[in-house]
Amino acid sequence: MPKALFAIWWDDKLGPFVGRYYPEDQPISGEEALAVFMGHGVNHEAKFGYTKISQGLVVSYMEAPNCIGVLLNDDDDPAVVERNLLRLIKYIDLTSSDWDKEVKAAFETLLELIDETSGAELLTRPAVQKMIDDMYGGRLPAIKPRHIFRSVAQYPEAGTYLGQDDEEVERTLRDLENERVLVAKTFGRTIKCRQCGGRDVEVTLLCPVCDSPNLHNVYQVFCPKCSEMFQTVIVDELSEVRCQRCLEAVEVHELEAIDVDPLCNDCGRASDEPKIVLTCSDCGKHLKGVDLLGGTGLAYSPDLKEE
Ligand SMILES: [Zn+2]
Ligand SMILES: [Zn+2]
Ligand SMILES: [Zn+2]
Repeated sequence: MPKALFAIWWDDKLGPFVGRYYPEDQPISGEEALAVFMGHGVNHEAKFGYTKISQGLVVSYMEAPNCIGVLLNDDDDPAVVERNLLRLIKYIDLTSSDWDKEVKAAFETLLELIDETSGAELLTRPAVQKMIDDMYGGRLPAIKPRHIFRSVAQYPEAGTYLGQDDEEVERTLRDLENERVLVAKTFGRTIKCRQCGGRDVEVTLLCPVCDSPNLHNVYQVFCPKCSEMFQTVIVDELSEVRCQRCLEAVEVHELEAIDVDPLCNDCGRASDEPKIVLTCSDCGKHLKGVDLLGGTGLAYSPDLKEE
């Protein structure tokens, strides 16, 4: 279980500093706070950061200008902490006026979340039990992903007031527009299927020579065991691949693709520029330029003409 949770804030004069820390017996230094904060990139482009400090590994989450860090114990799994930190964010009030309470509550909730989402505790949830039963009973043989891009407008500035749920933030802005408190103005373009209004997009690759969808993808991947690169074909239903350099088995969720070379199974041509086809994942319509850029993005401003 993690050792501590803390909030780092940005101050225009001081830079990043540790705002609150819980439990208080293991505070981190200003330099360490800076290292954690900077681990998210100069423009806070990375949501998650991993920083090794003298007391252990820190997994952190950036919701600029706030950064929430968790100090791990040696036997904590960073991926488990990352997942639960993401769950935790919606319970933290980033605009709280009582941060001592907020950080203490956040730490306690994080421990509960980790507990609830692992081991026997996880399997006592009725919904989880039902799903696992159905899978082992053959009624649900596998849970497959639907690969979609979703075009949901995000309003991070509004999010700092209204919470972190992007869809709820957008709904609230529309409600405010209805009430004529705000006025919507065009801003950029968004994806919208002209046939059904859907905003989810599925991506497929086709051979640029013969239009075959039958592509073999040769991936260049990074081996986490020996830190060398190797090439591999990744087909469906694999749970691990073997590194060609160190010959160790690597689990597929650990694979990081550096590059991919699609090879056509029908005409045999290799090309690094396959044709990219986008379809609406709600109605299956083949999306054209006007679907991709035809929707209107909206910006919201105060409705000043009311006054
Ligand atoms: Zn290797
Ligand atoms: Zn081909
Ligand atoms: Zn559609």
